[in-house]
Amino acid sequence: MRIVALAGGIGGARFLRGLREAIGPEDEITVIGNTGDDIHLYGLKVCPDLDTVMYTLGGGIHEEQGWGRTDETWSIKAEMKEYGVGPEWFGLGDRDFATHLVRSQMLTAGYTLSQVTEALCVRWQPGVRLLPMSDDRVETHVKITDEAGTRAVHFQEYWVRLHAEVDAEAVIPVGADTAKPAPGVLEAIAAADVILFPPSNPVVSIGTILAVPGIRAAVAAASAPVIGLSPIIGGAPVRGMADKVLAAVGVEATAEAVALDYGSRAARPGSTGGAGRREGVLDGWLVDTADEAAVAAVEAAGIACRAVPLLMTDVAATADMARAALALAEQVRA
Ligand code: GDP
Ligand code: CA
Repeated sequence: MRIVALAGGIGGARFLRGLREAIGPEDEITVIGNTGDDIHLYGLKVCPDLDTVMYTLGGGIHEEQGWGRTDETWSIKAEMKEYGVGPEWFGLGDRDFATHLVRSQMLTAGYTLSQVTEALCVRWQPGVRLLPMSDDRVETHVKITDEAGTRAVHFQEYWVRLHAEVDAEAVIPVGADTAKPAPGVLEAIAAADVILFPPSNPVVSIGTILAVPGIRAAVAAASAPVIGLSPIIGGAPVRGMADKVLAAVGVEATAEAVALDYGSRAARPGSTGGAGRREGVLDGWLVDTADEAAVAAVEAAGIACRAVPLLMTDVAATADMARAALALAEQVRA
């Protein structure tokens, strides 16, 4: 079985660890990673979501934090501070720096981000094929208004420095409209037996991947069933600021509203929302047992829906979530 998963950082990576447990030795996982969170710091290219997937699946992640390296030290950051060079709000540890140095050195030498990611994965052996969504630069910005006025800030600044405390007025994946899917991305989607949306952020992780021209259409047209898992439980994100960025795109932070925003693959574009409506991308959706009441409405929208426990408390519980997603894929396929 060829499984394709679209993934952001922590939610995606933790789900993938369970998925890897749930599949057989013959099955293959291709991960299409979000690069809209990428940021250039100190002349280095940092890819937070790709690295979170790579470190989590490769055994190098800081478990409690969910990002960055285990047993990290912070000498470089302290030295930068002595020079008065920031940003102080972004945590790059010494071990993590090595990854960004290797990546930036290879990019400068002319390798693509796909090639660099493959090279980094030689060390980490994540057990999946990890593809960036695009080799082209895409950076998500968030429109905010605070005492400094109305402006757009990098998504990392919104999340890490501002803690998503101020409302997001708009989310703009700068560069996405002209980005091309990375080599292998459209091919993997077309050849997939199952396509999964882990419980990643629907706006700034999966939404950004789908915003790369060609990817949403490829998912909508794929022969494989497409199954998503809700990152929203009981009307709130399990962690992070999905509610803030959902509000910016006019979607309620509920398991049901997120499913309807992804849309049913059975519904024809334009049939419900008028001109310009995006193609639906889901055949099936898993909500948490706390959201059992949402099942009927999601099914009424043409998306098969089941309520199962969706808290990734440990790898075994996460593997059960992955099995439920694969089982729903078989049901919608039949
Ligand atoms: P990020 O890039 O690090 O923000 O990670 P993702 O976009 O991949 O995932 C973030 C999403 O994961 C958030 O919206 C969370 O609500 C969701 N999430 C985190 N832990 C869990 C969990 O245990 N269960 C579910 N269902 N969602 C989770
Ligand atoms: Ca992210």
